[in-house]
Amino acid sequence: MLIDVRDILKFGGLTKRVELSLSAEECGIGDTDCVFKEPVQVSAELTNINGIIRAKGFVRTGYETFCARCLKPVYCSIEKPFDEEYVGAGSLRGTRSDEAEVYEYSDKEIDISLAARDAVLLEIPIRHLCGEDCKSLCPVCGKDLNEGDCDCELRPADARFEVLKDYYL
Ligand SMILES: [Zn+2]
Ligand SMILES: [Zn+2]
Repeated sequence: MLIDVRDILKFGGLTKRVELSLSAEECGIGDTDCVFKEPVQVSAELTNINGIIRAKGFVRTGYETFCARCLKPVYCSIEKPFDEEYVGAGSLRGTRSDEAEVYEYSDKEIDISLAARDAVLLEIPIRHLCGEDCKSLCPVCGKDLNEGDCDCELRPADARFEVLKDYYL
């Protein structure tokens, strides 16, 4: 989502607020394992700091995914602040190369979805659990052990399997 910043590029110190609602695709997060149930709300203040556009604000959204142990749906809400800088295209070369979180802008527009995307992706954990105490599925019969025990006998091999499952998922 491109934001025209010609107005605040006139003078250093000028600011403007942006309030946007992006779809997961517009935000560049459409290819994750999460199903975004809400648009990505972006609220930011853009400030011209001598030609560098500082974008400070937060993203908010909600998504559904699955518990890594019992596969039940898990719903997560995200509200994540961000504080990023956009520098004019070409002005980065040779300088500030140690700066990891800097985006380039060109044609007097910044792509606010870059900052929003990275803020959301940073906030999504590698795996989700429906609860820290999720008992998982029985590796023998597949019963959801959160709903009660089954009659399967867990042999040592199964216990090892559980450890591996925790490790890989
Ligand atoms: Zn679970
Ligand atoms: Zn069982």
